[in-house]
Amino acid sequence: MHPFQYQRADSADQAVAAVAKTPGATFIAGGTSHLDLMKEDVHHPSLLVDVSALPLKQITAFEGGVRIGAGVSNTAAAYHPDLQQRYAAMSEALLAGASVQIRNMASMAGNPLQRTRCPYFRDPAQACNKRTPGSGCAAIGGYNHVHALFGASKACIATHPSDLAVALAALDARVQTTGPRTIAFPELLRLPGDTPHLDTVLEHGELITAIDLPAFAGRSHYLKVRERASYAYALVSCAVALEMDGPKIRRARVALGGVAHKPWRVGPAEALLAGQLPTEQLFQAAANAAFADAKPLEHNAYKIPMGRNLMVRALLETSGLQPMQGPAGTAFAASVGGVAGRLATPR
Ligand SMILES: Cc1cc2nc3c(=O)[nH]c(=O)nc-3n(C[C@H](O)[C@H](O)[C@H](O)COP(=O)(O)OP(=O)(O)OC[C@H]3O[C@@H](n4cnc5c(N)ncnc54)[C@H](O)[C@@H]3O)c2cc1C
Ligand code: SF4
Repeated sequence: MHPFQYQRADSADQAVAAVAKTPGATFIAGGTSHLDLMKEDVHHPSLLVDVSALPLKQITAFEGGVRIGAGVSNTAAAYHPDLQQRYAAMSEALLAGASVQIRNMASMAGNPLQRTRCPYFRDPAQACNKRTPGSGCAAIGGYNHVHALFGASKACIATHPSDLAVALAALDARVQTTGPRTIAFPELLRLPGDTPHLDTVLEHGELITAIDLPAFAGRSHYLKVRERASYAYALVSCAVALEMDGPKIRRARVALGGVAHKPWRVGPAEALLAGQLPTEQLFQAAANAAFADAKPLEHNAYKIPMGRNLMVRALLETSGLQPMQGPAGTAFAASVGGVAGRLATPR
């Protein structure tokens, strides 16, 4: 690991000033993502500004919805009774990620800012435009089974790994920063274009202070398929938020994960669902629309039928046409982390 300076911030202003004036500086919260990248020789910050002691750990009512402080742990948010009840997809997404120990350390701001799990990015011996701009992309001609179906570029085909970000995108969450400004999900995260080294729209030294969830009176749900039932990232995932008007769907929001370098909202599918009676046939049509523009790579075409099936199942379970189920230990990890997670809520 390269040598670096460490500074614990006592206030948001102090943290922002310390990072803003030092080009190689960065924030650190739980450290569960950032330290790995430093140990793997991918990141070489000159200064780490620790924001974990800042008073950003409240979960409060806000404009009919909820404001979650940037420093709230993934565990605290996942098991918060109001969040579990009103924003189930977010709780399920958190519980479908990482492990208990990591979730205890991980923060709500750090989670969506974690970097890609593209294996070539994490191997300094490989060409990677995201790690070293201009060096090329080893994944394009390599084994690209975990890579993107949507929004890729000639410079980078990586996906974004955060489960939480997918749920936040479907729930129309907004990010508050010291800009000061409000950023709507999923605009926080960028597609690679020809600058894949830039993951987000945040400026250097811009600190996230909170995540806001707008008022929501419908049902939401998150499902994730992964290679093993625990401690693995999404191959594909799907977050659904449905608001009903009697028996009909008034508004549907659907975000896909594991398919692009940002949560992928599927506008044409959402439009198809609005105003309709929920049926399996309708959900299949919506899933077909969602994946109509997918551009598979050499090794990831399997994600298209997998993603369609997952989206249909997520819609069936969210609408109540099919009970939420899925035996523990299957690849449908949110059924493990979500439903079982909710039953396991500490009282
Ligand atoms: C083995 C393993 C398995 C995992 N599996 C999953 C999984 O299945 N699904 C999943 O979604 N995640 C998974 N994760 C990732 C985990 O969720 C993240 O590491 C964690 O959420 C990051 O939060 P943190 O607070 O530790 O961030 P840190 O590592 O401290 O920081 C991450 C980034 O966020 C920035 N940052 C932190 N706070 C702020 C702020 N307030 N404002 C601006 N920038 C900030 C940092 O500068 C850094 O760039 C896994 C991690 C590990 C190690
Ligand atoms: S896909 Fe992106 S992150 Fe992966 S090697 Fe290519 S440039 Fe790097």
